[in-house]
Amino acid sequence: MKVIDPIPVQLNLEEFMRSSAARGLRETDVARLMDKCRPLIEPKAVYAFLKIVEINDDKVLLSSGHTLKSIILSDMLKPGQPVVPFVATIGPKLENHILENAKGSMLQAWIMEKIGDYALEKAVGYVRSLIERDLGGSATSFGPGTGTGKLFGIEQQEILFRILEPSKNIGVHLTPSYLMVPRKSVSSVLAVTEKEYVACQYCPRERCENRRKPFSGEYFAVKCETLVSYNK
Ligand code: SF4
Repeated sequence: MKVIDPIPVQLNLEEFMRSSAARGLRETDVARLMDKCRPLIEPKAVYAFLKIVEINDDKVLLSSGHTLKSIILSDMLKPGQPVVPFVATIGPKLENHILENAKGSMLQAWIMEKIGDYALEKAVGYVRSLIERDLGGSATSFGPGTGTGKLFGIEQQEILFRILEPSKNIGVHLTPSYLMVPRKSVSSVLAVTEKEYVACQYCPRERCENRRKPFSGEYFAVKCETLVSYNK
């Protein structure tokens, strides 16, 4: 188990202004708010290098003794391979500040939200680069509950939280509906895969500003047995 606290994250004004989140915003406003956000951002993460012991149907038994239930993990991963569950956060201070000051200016609150998202993305990027260096390649990210949640259900958060104990290690708690508090937190399982998997491909949600790939329809696992019986 590894805890990184703090994650060294540098908020870069020029980089943020180039992102779609900053479209139409005045650089001087963003610069002022970014300075305000900096002391409120406390990025940290916890992760663990595990191995897959065996896979039965949609159940993936890990070397920690925990079992993750997921169609996509059982289809794309293999026994013996390393997997890395992780949870990262920027802490509660920024979102508490936004909540307390939301009545003041909606625009200001919105910009600070976006700066928080940007900080979380950078924190995750940092942790991911460390994990990928040790995995020896670019990793696919499997997030519980992403897309429709059919391929890796949000209730599997409970297993990740049992493995990593983020509540004790980095102050991230799970609500009874499996949402993380602080809100600006991310959980995922990283693994090197033969094929790329992006949850957006199987997510029909319309008008999602975070979509990374076009919707390609429902996910169907193509197993060897399926091909054999089809070719008979
Ligand atoms: S399209 Fe949007 S909601 Fe669906 S998986 Fe991608 S980012 Fe998530």
